Amino acid sequence: MELVILERKSHLLTPPRLPCVGSLPTLRLASGCIHGCLDCYAQGSCGRIGSQKVVLAVNFLKKLRDELARRHPRPPAVCFDFASDPFQPVPELLERTYEVLKCLLGEGVGVVFQTKAKIPRQHLELLLAHPALVRAIIGLVTIDRRLLRIFEPRTATPRTRLAQMRQLVAGGVATLARVDPILPGLSDDPDALHGLCAALAEAGVREIAAGMLVLRPGLVRALRNRLARPQIFRRLMQPFSQGHNQRFRAGGPAMRVVPAARRRKFFQWLTAIAGQYGIAVHVCACKNPDLAGQSCRLAGAWSPTEVVERQKELFAP
Ligand code: SF4
Repeated sequence: MELVILERKSHLLTPPRLPCVGSLPTLRLASGCIHGCLDCYAQGSCGRIGSQKVVLAVNFLKKLRDELARRHPRPPAVCFDFASDPFQPVPELLERTYEVLKCLLGEGVGVVFQTKAKIPRQHLELLLAHPALVRAIIGLVTIDRRLLRIFEPRTATPRTRLAQMRQLVAGGVATLARVDPILPGLSDDPDALHGLCAALAEAGVREIAAGMLVLRPGLVRALRNRLARPQIFRRLMQPFSQGHNQRFRAGGPAMRVVPAARRRKFFQWLTAIAGQYGIAVHVCACKNPDLAGQSCRLAGAWSPTEVVERQKELFAP
Protein backbone atom coordinates (compact mmCIF):
# COMPACT_ATOMS: atom_id res chain seq x y z
CA MET A 1 0.00 0.00 0.00
CA GLU A 2 1.34 3.42 -0.90
CA LEU A 3 0.46 6.34 1.38
CA VAL A 4 0.81 9.84 -0.05
CA ILE A 5 0.53 12.96 2.10
CA LEU A 6 -0.26 16.17 0.25
CA GLU A 7 -1.19 19.71 1.04
CA ARG A 8 -4.80 20.39 0.13
CA LYS A 9 -5.64 23.95 -0.84
CA SER A 10 -9.30 23.47 -1.76
CA HIS A 11 -12.14 23.41 0.78
CA LEU A 12 -12.65 20.22 2.75
CA LEU A 13 -16.40 20.67 3.06
CA THR A 14 -17.85 20.66 -0.41
CA PRO A 15 -21.41 20.87 -1.75
CA PRO A 16 -23.17 17.53 -2.13
CA ARG A 17 -22.67 15.79 -5.47
CA LEU A 18 -25.41 13.17 -5.04
CA PRO A 19 -29.11 13.97 -4.66
CA CYS A 20 -29.45 11.23 -2.03
CA VAL A 21 -27.17 13.22 0.28
CA GLY A 22 -29.69 16.09 0.36
CA SER A 23 -28.11 19.38 1.30
CA LEU A 24 -25.40 17.98 3.57
CA PRO A 25 -21.84 19.05 2.85
CA THR A 26 -19.51 16.27 1.81
CA LEU A 27 -16.17 15.61 3.47
CA ARG A 28 -13.48 13.58 1.74
CA LEU A 29 -11.18 12.18 4.39
CA ALA A 30 -8.86 10.59 1.83
CA SER A 31 -8.61 9.73 -1.83
CA GLY A 32 -8.30 6.13 -2.86
CA CYS A 33 -9.50 2.93 -1.28
CA ILE A 34 -7.43 -0.20 -0.77
CA HIS A 35 -10.51 -2.41 -0.64
CA GLY A 36 -10.27 -2.61 -4.41
CA CYS A 37 -13.85 -3.73 -5.05
CA LEU A 38 -14.22 -4.88 -8.64
CA ASP A 39 -17.56 -3.14 -9.02
CA CYS A 40 -16.52 0.10 -7.27
CA TYR A 41 -18.49 3.11 -8.54
CA ALA A 42 -15.73 5.42 -7.38
CA GLN A 43 -13.16 4.19 -9.83
CA GLY A 44 -12.03 7.06 -11.95
CA SER A 45 -12.78 9.51 -9.16
CA CYS A 46 -10.52 7.97 -6.52
CA GLY A 47 -7.74 6.56 -8.60
CA ARG A 48 -7.28 3.44 -10.65
CA ILE A 49 -9.39 0.51 -9.52
CA GLY A 50 -7.46 -1.95 -7.44
CA SER A 51 -4.77 0.66 -6.82
CA GLN A 52 -3.16 0.46 -3.42
CA LYS A 53 -2.67 4.20 -3.15
CA VAL A 54 -4.30 6.32 -0.46
CA VAL A 55 -3.83 10.09 -0.40
CA LEU A 56 -4.22 12.10 2.79
CA ALA A 57 -4.05 15.86 3.22
CA VAL A 58 -1.87 17.53 5.84
CA ASN A 59 -3.34 19.85 8.52
CA PHE A 60 -6.73 18.29 7.92
CA LEU A 61 -8.19 18.73 11.38
CA LYS A 62 -7.15 22.35 11.74
CA LYS A 63 -8.56 23.17 8.33
CA LEU A 64 -11.82 21.39 9.15
CA ARG A 65 -12.18 23.27 12.45
CA ASP A 66 -11.54 26.58 10.65
CA GLU A 67 -14.11 25.79 7.98
CA LEU A 68 -16.71 24.77 10.55
CA ALA A 69 -16.10 27.93 12.56
CA ARG A 70 -16.73 30.05 9.45
CA ARG A 71 -20.07 28.36 8.68
CA HIS A 72 -23.18 30.13 9.93
CA PRO A 73 -25.31 28.24 10.56
CA ARG A 74 -23.33 25.09 11.03
CA PRO A 75 -24.48 22.14 8.99
CA PRO A 76 -26.60 19.70 11.05
CA ALA A 77 -24.43 16.89 9.71
CA VAL A 78 -21.59 16.10 7.34
CA CYS A 79 -21.53 13.20 4.92
CA PHE A 80 -18.22 11.40 4.43
CA ASP A 81 -17.55 11.02 0.74
CA PHE A 82 -18.59 7.59 -0.53
CA ALA A 83 -15.59 7.39 -2.88
CA SER A 84 -13.22 6.25 -0.13
CA ASP A 85 -14.04 3.96 2.78
CA PRO A 86 -13.36 5.82 6.07
CA PHE A 87 -12.65 2.55 7.90
CA GLN A 88 -10.39 0.83 5.37
CA PRO A 89 -7.47 -0.75 7.23
CA VAL A 90 -4.91 2.02 6.80
CA PRO A 91 -3.68 3.08 10.27
CA GLU A 92 -3.06 6.71 9.31
CA LEU A 93 -6.54 7.03 7.82
CA LEU A 94 -8.19 5.29 10.77
CA GLU A 95 -6.48 7.74 13.08
CA ARG A 96 -7.79 10.62 10.97
CA THR A 97 -11.30 9.17 10.86
CA TYR A 98 -11.30 8.90 14.63
CA GLU A 99 -10.09 12.47 15.14
CA VAL A 100 -12.61 13.85 12.65
CA LEU A 101 -15.48 11.89 14.25
CA LYS A 102 -14.41 13.14 17.67
CA CYS A 103 -14.25 16.71 16.42
CA LEU A 104 -17.62 16.69 14.62
CA LEU A 105 -19.58 14.72 17.19
CA GLY A 106 -18.02 16.74 20.01
CA GLU A 107 -19.27 19.91 18.32
CA GLY A 108 -22.77 18.47 17.92
CA VAL A 109 -22.42 18.00 14.16
CA GLY A 110 -23.86 14.73 12.87
CA VAL A 111 -22.04 12.32 10.59
CA VAL A 112 -23.19 10.06 7.80
CA PHE A 113 -20.76 7.42 6.63
CA GLN A 114 -20.77 4.41 4.38
CA THR A 115 -18.48 1.46 4.92
CA LYS A 116 -17.84 -2.15 3.98
CA ALA A 117 -15.02 -2.45 6.49
CA LYS A 118 -14.69 -3.68 10.04
CA ILE A 119 -15.16 -0.61 12.20
CA PRO A 120 -12.46 -0.69 14.91
CA ARG A 121 -13.72 -0.96 18.48
CA GLN A 122 -12.51 2.50 19.48
CA HIS A 123 -14.41 4.11 16.60
CA LEU A 124 -17.50 2.03 17.28
CA GLU A 125 -17.55 3.12 20.91
CA LEU A 126 -17.28 6.75 19.84
CA LEU A 127 -20.19 6.37 17.42
CA LEU A 128 -22.27 4.58 20.03
CA ALA A 129 -21.65 7.41 22.47
CA HIS A 130 -23.49 9.79 20.08
CA PRO A 131 -26.28 7.69 18.56
CA ALA A 132 -28.56 10.59 17.66
CA LEU A 133 -25.80 12.20 15.62
CA VAL A 134 -24.84 9.21 13.50
CA ARG A 135 -26.29 7.61 10.39
CA ALA A 136 -24.45 4.45 9.43
CA ILE A 137 -24.71 3.02 5.93
CA ILE A 138 -23.27 -0.46 5.76
CA GLY A 139 -22.71 -1.90 2.29
CA LEU A 140 -23.76 -5.53 1.92
CA VAL A 141 -25.17 -7.00 -1.29
CA THR A 142 -25.05 -10.68 -0.41
CA ILE A 143 -24.24 -13.03 2.42
CA ASP A 144 -22.56 -15.40 -0.06
CA ARG A 145 -19.05 -15.14 1.25
CA ARG A 146 -17.44 -16.69 -1.81
CA LEU A 147 -19.10 -14.24 -4.18
CA LEU A 148 -18.21 -11.34 -1.94
CA ARG A 149 -14.57 -12.44 -1.84
CA ILE A 150 -14.43 -12.29 -5.63
CA PHE A 151 -15.96 -8.83 -5.98
CA GLU A 152 -14.85 -7.25 -2.70
CA PRO A 153 -11.53 -8.93 -1.98
CA ARG A 154 -10.48 -6.84 1.02
CA THR A 155 -13.69 -5.81 2.74
CA ALA A 156 -15.03 -7.23 6.01
CA THR A 157 -16.88 -10.54 5.96
CA PRO A 158 -20.70 -10.54 5.91
CA ARG A 159 -20.63 -11.89 9.45
CA THR A 160 -18.54 -8.94 10.68
CA ARG A 161 -20.70 -6.41 8.88
CA LEU A 162 -23.89 -7.93 10.24
CA ALA A 163 -22.43 -8.02 13.76
CA GLN A 164 -21.57 -4.35 13.65
CA MET A 165 -24.98 -3.48 12.22
CA ARG A 166 -26.47 -5.33 15.20
CA GLN A 167 -24.31 -3.33 17.61
CA LEU A 168 -25.14 -0.02 15.95
CA VAL A 169 -28.88 -0.71 15.86
CA ALA A 170 -28.86 -1.90 19.48
CA GLY A 171 -27.06 1.31 20.44
CA GLY A 172 -29.74 3.49 18.82
CA VAL A 173 -27.78 4.46 15.69
CA ALA A 174 -29.88 4.89 12.53
CA THR A 175 -28.45 2.07 10.41
CA LEU A 176 -29.23 1.37 6.79
CA ALA A 177 -27.96 -1.48 4.62
CA ARG A 178 -26.82 -0.44 1.17
CA VAL A 179 -27.63 -3.31 -1.14
CA ASP A 180 -25.93 -1.79 -4.12
CA PRO A 181 -24.64 -2.77 -6.60
CA ILE A 182 -26.65 -5.95 -6.91
CA LEU A 183 -24.92 -8.09 -9.53
CA PRO A 184 -27.46 -9.19 -12.14
CA GLY A 185 -27.29 -12.91 -12.75
CA LEU A 186 -25.15 -13.43 -9.63
CA SER A 187 -26.75 -11.95 -6.53
CA ASP A 188 -30.30 -11.09 -7.64
CA ASP A 189 -32.14 -14.39 -7.29
CA PRO A 190 -34.96 -14.69 -4.72
CA ASP A 191 -33.15 -17.29 -2.60
CA ALA A 192 -30.14 -15.03 -2.19
CA LEU A 193 -32.41 -12.09 -1.36
CA HIS A 194 -34.29 -14.12 1.25
CA GLY A 195 -31.01 -15.06 2.92
CA LEU A 196 -29.80 -11.48 2.89
CA CYS A 197 -33.06 -9.99 4.20
CA ALA A 198 -33.32 -12.61 6.95
CA ALA A 199 -29.77 -11.82 8.10
CA LEU A 200 -30.39 -8.06 8.00
CA ALA A 201 -33.65 -8.40 9.90
CA GLU A 202 -31.91 -10.52 12.51
CA ALA A 203 -29.38 -7.70 12.91
CA GLY A 204 -32.26 -5.27 13.49
CA VAL A 205 -31.96 -3.41 10.18
CA ARG A 206 -35.24 -1.95 8.96
CA GLU A 207 -34.12 0.00 5.87
CA ILE A 208 -32.40 -0.97 2.65
CA ALA A 209 -31.21 1.30 -0.17
CA ALA A 210 -30.99 -0.83 -3.29
CA GLY A 211 -29.52 -0.47 -6.74
CA MET A 212 -28.38 -2.73 -9.55
CA LEU A 213 -24.97 -2.57 -11.16
CA VAL A 214 -24.56 -0.02 -13.96
CA LEU A 215 -21.59 -0.19 -16.29
CA ARG A 216 -19.59 2.98 -16.16
CA PRO A 217 -17.10 3.60 -18.98
CA GLY A 218 -14.03 1.48 -18.29
CA LEU A 219 -15.76 -0.86 -15.86
CA VAL A 220 -16.31 -3.65 -18.40
CA ARG A 221 -12.59 -3.73 -19.20
CA ALA A 222 -11.68 -3.65 -15.51
CA LEU A 223 -14.08 -6.51 -14.77
CA ARG A 224 -12.80 -8.57 -17.70
CA ASN A 225 -9.21 -8.07 -16.59
CA ARG A 226 -9.76 -8.69 -12.92
CA LEU A 227 -12.32 -11.49 -12.88
CA ALA A 228 -10.24 -14.66 -12.90
CA ARG A 229 -13.15 -16.82 -14.06
CA PRO A 230 -14.44 -15.85 -17.53
CA GLN A 231 -17.76 -17.63 -16.95
CA ILE A 232 -18.55 -15.22 -14.09
CA PHE A 233 -17.77 -12.28 -16.37
CA ARG A 234 -20.03 -13.67 -19.11
CA ARG A 235 -22.87 -14.35 -16.68
CA LEU A 236 -22.63 -10.83 -15.30
CA MET A 237 -22.53 -9.20 -18.73
CA GLN A 238 -25.36 -11.22 -20.25
CA PRO A 239 -28.27 -9.16 -18.78
CA PHE A 240 -26.64 -5.98 -20.10
CA SER A 241 -26.67 -7.28 -23.68
CA GLN A 242 -30.40 -6.52 -23.90
CA GLY A 243 -30.01 -3.25 -22.02
CA HIS A 244 -29.36 0.26 -23.22
CA ASN A 245 -27.10 3.22 -22.55
CA GLN A 246 -28.38 5.93 -20.29
CA ARG A 247 -27.10 9.29 -19.05
CA PHE A 248 -27.99 9.91 -15.43
CA ARG A 249 -27.23 13.61 -15.56
CA ALA A 250 -26.82 16.16 -18.31
CA GLY A 251 -23.26 16.12 -19.61
CA GLY A 252 -22.40 12.95 -17.68
CA PRO A 253 -21.08 9.81 -19.35
CA ALA A 254 -23.47 7.27 -20.86
CA MET A 255 -23.70 4.11 -18.80
CA ARG A 256 -24.99 0.69 -19.70
CA VAL A 257 -27.99 -0.53 -17.70
CA VAL A 258 -29.95 -3.77 -17.73
CA PRO A 259 -33.45 -3.50 -19.24
CA ALA A 260 -36.00 -1.60 -17.17
CA ALA A 261 -38.33 -4.63 -17.09
CA ARG A 262 -35.67 -6.77 -15.44
CA ARG A 263 -34.77 -4.06 -12.92
CA ARG A 264 -38.44 -3.47 -12.12
CA LYS A 265 -38.99 -7.17 -11.55
CA PHE A 266 -35.95 -7.34 -9.28
CA PHE A 267 -37.06 -4.36 -7.17
CA GLN A 268 -40.54 -5.87 -6.90
CA TRP A 269 -39.05 -9.14 -5.62
CA LEU A 270 -36.78 -7.36 -3.22
CA THR A 271 -39.58 -5.14 -1.87
CA ALA A 272 -41.87 -8.14 -1.39
CA ILE A 273 -39.17 -10.28 0.25
CA ALA A 274 -37.83 -7.48 2.45
CA GLY A 275 -41.42 -6.65 3.46
CA GLN A 276 -41.79 -10.16 4.87
CA TYR A 277 -38.95 -9.30 7.23
CA GLY A 278 -40.27 -5.84 8.13
CA ILE A 279 -37.65 -4.05 6.03
CA ALA A 280 -38.46 -1.04 3.85
CA VAL A 281 -36.70 -0.72 0.48
CA HIS A 282 -35.61 2.55 -1.12
CA VAL A 283 -34.65 2.25 -4.76
CA CYS A 284 -31.73 4.34 -5.95
CA ALA A 285 -33.38 7.00 -8.11
CA CYS A 286 -30.06 8.31 -9.47
CA LYS A 287 -29.43 5.05 -11.31
CA ASN A 288 -33.10 4.28 -12.01
CA PRO A 289 -34.65 7.55 -13.17
CA ASP A 290 -36.97 5.49 -15.39
CA LEU A 291 -38.34 3.54 -12.41
CA ALA A 292 -37.95 5.31 -9.07
CA GLY A 293 -39.93 8.43 -8.36
CA GLN A 294 -37.84 10.02 -5.66
CA SER A 295 -34.39 9.99 -4.11
CA CYS A 296 -33.54 7.07 -1.82
CA ARG A 297 -32.43 9.68 0.77
CA LEU A 298 -29.44 7.61 1.71
CA ALA A 299 -28.14 10.22 4.10
CA GLY A 300 -31.46 10.54 5.94
CA ALA A 301 -33.24 13.65 7.18
CA TRP A 302 -31.08 16.14 9.01
CA SER A 303 -32.87 19.38 9.70
CA PRO A 304 -31.57 20.84 12.97
CA THR A 305 -35.02 20.40 14.53
CA GLU A 306 -35.05 16.71 13.65
CA VAL A 307 -31.66 16.23 15.30
CA VAL A 308 -32.91 17.92 18.48
CA GLU A 309 -36.10 15.84 18.40
CA ARG A 310 -34.12 12.62 18.00
CA GLN A 311 -31.86 13.61 20.89
CA LYS A 312 -34.96 14.19 23.01
CA GLU A 313 -36.45 10.85 22.08
CA LEU A 314 -33.26 9.01 22.88
CA PHE A 315 -32.52 10.71 26.14
CA ALA A 316 -36.05 11.09 27.49
CA PRO A 317 -36.26 9.73 31.04
S1 SF4 B 1 -15.14 0.01 -0.26
FE1 SF4 B 1 -16.34 1.41 -1.52
S2 SF4 B 1 -14.89 3.01 -2.16
FE2 SF4 B 1 -13.69 1.26 -1.44
S3 SF4 B 1 -13.22 0.09 -3.29
FE3 SF4 B 1 -15.09 -0.80 -2.34
S4 SF4 B 1 -16.78 0.23 -3.38
FE4 SF4 B 1 -14.93 1.46 -3.78
